[in-house]
Amino acid sequence: DYILNKDYFIGVLEDLAVLAEEKKVYFSELDSAIGDGDHGMNLSIGFREVSKNLEGWKSEDINTIFKNAGTALLDKVGGASGPLYGGFFMKFGVPAKGKEEVSFDEFIEMMEAGVAIIEKRGKASVGDKTMVDTLRPAVDALRAVYSEDDMAPKEAMKKALEAGSAGSDSTIPIIAKKGRAMRLGERAIGHRDPGSASSVAILEIFYNRMP
Ligand code: ADP
Ligand code: MG
Ligand code: MG
Repeated sequence: DYILNKDYFIGVLEDLAVLAEEKKVYFSELDSAIGDGDHGMNLSIGFREVSKNLEGWKSEDINTIFKNAGTALLDKVGGASGPLYGGFFMKFGVPAKGKEEVSFDEFIEMMEAGVAIIEKRGKASVGDKTMVDTLRPAVDALRAVYSEDDMAPKEAMKKALEAGSAGSDSTIPIIAKKGRAMRLGERAIGHRDPGSASSVAILEIFYNRMP
């Protein structure tokens, strides 16, 4: 049976810290166009804190590791993305409480729990030009292709990533109904939402690391 073990999840967190440095300028440039230009810096600060402490969390179960990671983001990141991604990781771990490995069905549950808290905290839904425009279609695609089309897990995650990427693209031609870009009205049109872009990059790491 297909299993995602603790090493997979630790690897994802390590890769997220690398990603946050590599794409710091890109995320902040996107945010400069329609926000306050700090999205890259916010993620860098948050994931540096995660990476600094990760070694000490490795003996914990999957839930505790993500609870700690989420708490670090929540505590260290000043912007909107801190509580949103912080909440994502805190809830993401819950279905893996007490576990050292999860099934792919449990992984889908973890993704769903994470995305649901972002929607709830942000009061955002698809079409508001936020990270939800990436994450909701991704997790819906993941569940649909895995359960209905009987697809292999990594193949299903690839479809999820593609749906998320298309969702991020769909933020370009629309106005924002949530977040800082809301104030710009039609001036936000033509720009990708920065959070939708960082969410694609995060999903890509979950995909790349999958066995
Ligand atoms: P801030 O806007 O406080 O500077 P960041 O720049 O780090 O924070 O993050 C901005 C991103 O957060 C946006 O691009 C958007 O994707 C996301 N975001 C902002 N507000 C909301 C919300 N209410 N719901 C969901 N996502 C949101
Ligand atoms: Mg910002
Ligand atoms: Mg800010």
